[in-house]
Amino acid sequence: MTKSGEVRKISDEMKRDETLTITVLGGGGEVGANCFQLCYNGYQILLDCGTHPKKEGFGALPEFSLLRRSPNALIISHGHVDHCGATPYLLRQFPGVRVYSTLPTARIMDRMLHNSVSVMETLAKERGISDYPLYDHEDVGYAVRSIHAHGFEESFFLGDDAEIEATFHHAGHVLGSASILLRTPRHTLFYTSDICEIDQELMNGYTPLNGDVRVDTLVIESTQGASDESAIYPYPQESARLGESIRRVLKGGGSVLLPCFALGRTQEILNIVARQQEEGVIPDVPVYVSGLGRAIYELYDRFYEYLAPGAVLRPLSQFHRIGNVWEPGVVRRLIEDPCILVATSGMMMENTPSALIAQEMVRSNHHGIFFVGYVDPDTLGYKLLHARPGDRLRFLLGYPAVEIKLENIKRLHFSAHANRAALRGIIERIKPHNVVFVHGDPDALAWMRHNGGNGYRSCAPCTGQTITLEN
Ligand SMILES: [Zn+2]
Ligand SMILES: [Zn+2]
Repeated sequence: MTKSGEVRKISDEMKRDETLTITVLGGGGEVGANCFQLCYNGYQILLDCGTHPKKEGFGALPEFSLLRRSPNALIISHGHVDHCGATPYLLRQFPGVRVYSTLPTARIMDRMLHNSVSVMETLAKERGISDYPLYDHEDVGYAVRSIHAHGFEESFFLGDDAEIEATFHHAGHVLGSASILLRTPRHTLFYTSDICEIDQELMNGYTPLNGDVRVDTLVIESTQGASDESAIYPYPQESARLGESIRRVLKGGGSVLLPCFALGRTQEILNIVARQQEEGVIPDVPVYVSGLGRAIYELYDRFYEYLAPGAVLRPLSQFHRIGNVWEPGVVRRLIEDPCILVATSGMMMENTPSALIAQEMVRSNHHGIFFVGYVDPDTLGYKLLHARPGDRLRFLLGYPAVEIKLENIKRLHFSAHANRAALRGIIERIKPHNVVFVHGDPDALAWMRHNGGNGYRSCAPCTGQTITLEN
């Protein structure tokens, strides 16, 4: 090598910055707009790019003001909007960002994000939220076309830079959901994202990392950190309790509403209900499902090979369309004869199909409304769960409140998030140098840090905080 070549090589090496830092743009200290920026040697990678489920307008976006320039790459773990909902907005600001996800997640994002545009357009009109829509259908089309899809356990380099390698690992949460392993020449980071250890009706639990992978930094979700797992029935028992609760209502001539998230819970619950009808536990009444849940169901069917081996996914044609619940009389006619309705939103926000159906059901006392997932204290669903007969609740904004006569309203516990014992198990198995707790309410994060972070360099950063990750 010539002398000038040597000089250049030395100065290049001096410029290298092999420190890895993580800046939380969202999802720190809360279950929010998940987005984590990694910086390594001038390269910027975002892990997830979600919108905050409880905030509105620009406030629902991650802290993009902390991005000083365009990120090089964005890796999406799965299709829930708290992980992918801000992607079209980011790409409108920074066209050319390479996006990576699994193939089912890319297809799910297509449906979820077009639906988000429609929801934002409605909110802009009905509630005058001037920031909405944050992006349009064209932006969604561009974002989805920017995705490079990769399979599980298939390592790939990010862009032209052959220094950073990524791999998706089956996370067991919903169809296509992945944990992400990132390797730089000096540091290995594992981001669990939303992860589930148990076998659900359609999904197998997560695949543990190979034991010989040495992880320096583990970024782990903490959703269930404040829930005592011993107080919750295992999934099969909870399924049986659900079946028994539904059976009783139907036998009494009532109908049952199961508010569900469109991605994951809807497909799981439909197949639990169908199985119990086949087993004769639940009477053979019609089962109805609302729009977005149906659209995602088609993808469960298309990507059948991603489901648990042996999972039985009934044909979507077996479940009826709910129809337009906004038209007068539609819900009343539906619930006249006993039936089961699976409808979004899962936490029953006002003005959604589940709220419109509930508004009719609560007027008499022979139906049943069973929530099957997490219900946030700030939601209509939570108020309904804690309502007493005679209380009045508003299901449709701008319309009069309705008197609650129905008593049979309860919550069952189905979760696609690892319980806290399983989260501790992940940490103990991986034995990383650093543990970063994210995606949890403050009490959940505090419990995890106290009980899962012992003996490790651990932190639960808030949004806006930067951490330098050491080996
Ligand atoms: Zn999720
Ligand atoms: Zn999440």
